[in-house]
Amino acid sequence: MDFILSEEHKMLRTTVRDLAVKKFAPMADELDRRQEFAWDNFKAMSELGLTGIGIPGEYGGSDGGELSVAVAVEEIAWACAATADILDTHLCLCTKPIYTFGNEEQRKKFLPPLIKGEKVGGFAITESEAGSDIAAVKATAVRDGNSYILNGTKIFMTNGDVAGTAIVFANIPELGSRGMTAFIVEDGTPGFTKGKKYDKLGMRAATNADFIFEDCRVPVENRLGEEGKGMRICLAILDHGRIGIAAQTLGITRAVLERSIEYSKQRIQFGAPISQNQAISWMLTDMAAQLEAARLLTHKTAFLADQGEPFTVYAAMAKLTASELCMKAATQGIQIFGGYGYMMDSPMQRYFRDAKLTTIYEGTSEVQRMVISRSLLR
Ligand SMILES: Cc1cc2nc3c(=O)[nH]c(=O)nc-3n(C[C@H](O)[C@H](O)[C@H](O)COP(=O)(O)OP(=O)(O)OC[C@H]3O[C@@H](n4cnc5c(N)ncnc54)[C@H](O)[C@@H]3O)c2cc1C
Repeated sequence: MDFILSEEHKMLRTTVRDLAVKKFAPMADELDRRQEFAWDNFKAMSELGLTGIGIPGEYGGSDGGELSVAVAVEEIAWACAATADILDTHLCLCTKPIYTFGNEEQRKKFLPPLIKGEKVGGFAITESEAGSDIAAVKATAVRDGNSYILNGTKIFMTNGDVAGTAIVFANIPELGSRGMTAFIVEDGTPGFTKGKKYDKLGMRAATNADFIFEDCRVPVENRLGEEGKGMRICLAILDHGRIGIAAQTLGITRAVLERSIEYSKQRIQFGAPISQNQAISWMLTDMAAQLEAARLLTHKTAFLADQGEPFTVYAAMAKLTASELCMKAATQGIQIFGGYGYMMDSPMQRYFRDAKLTTIYEGTSEVQRMVISRSLLR
């Protein structure tokens, strides 16, 4: 195993960092206040080919693998975590899964507009009674000739209000508890409507809305994978998605650390910079050491995925470790900024609000612990 990024990954990091510094960082607070989908950032990411990472060039993708996703997402999240959230959902939860689980016709039909950024991707499993317990999904898909009729409501969908293509999970009733099946559903399909847009604590430029299916007729050719294979597909998608979330947290934590170092060196109390107090400098050193550890774990997970090795438990460990660190670092960042850290015009408050989500979505920290402990105690 090589602990140094390849020249290709270094080049990707430099290119994405440049975009993040010049375009995403200056707008991040404004986009957060507006709480509108960050269209300009989405377009910029697609122009750079980021919406096609992990997909072969013959489909219009940019090649690369999970490590490329991790490297790019960290840089974006350093500047604007909501923009990284948009990319994660679009790429890891919709576009790449269509490549991985789709047939040739589906790849040719659905991938180009997603990769070019003409359509935004979404992913819909969660319902009001099916959160951590995804097997409790109530949405149904009943076969009728050459179509399935979908009924049900999905809540909290990231990119939901703007999604043009989404992967949606529903149960085929006659298959009983093994009926979960995945479908590709396009915006504009009769019977598919978007519900209320949410007012969120953080990640506010990645907007969320409900998906409502009322006798929504989806053609059989839009079924992703076989009937009854939806649970397996969903869990596999989430394994990959968790690498993206871990990478988001690396970017947020790095931003917190950099801002905290800057501030603690210039803030004078008792006649000296507060950084000269061990209480402060040790917070910074722990943050730096743990960030490095979380990055190693995230990159190792991405490396395993790229090698085709099993990585489910590593993905859970990476997301758990990196997101819990991120929340702790963001809390300490506010502490280091003192009273100013608590004000809405300080840089820390956005990191704190954005960080919290990373311990919740794509499986809460408790769910990651369930995945890890099951494997330990098997
Ligand atoms: C901003 C945002 C964006 C999202 N985007 C999407 C999306 O794009 N697509 C999508 O499908 N979903 C999305 N979700 C849903 C998200 O994945 C769920 O919210 C998450 O999985 C938790 O489910 P829940 O909210 O129902 O919480 P619950 O499952 O009700 O959990 C509540 C609490 O109980 C704990 N808990 C539950 N079961 C156990 C257990 N067995 N042991 C220990 N503790 C337990 C949980 O860890 C949590 O702390 C999003 C959510 C948010 C907030």
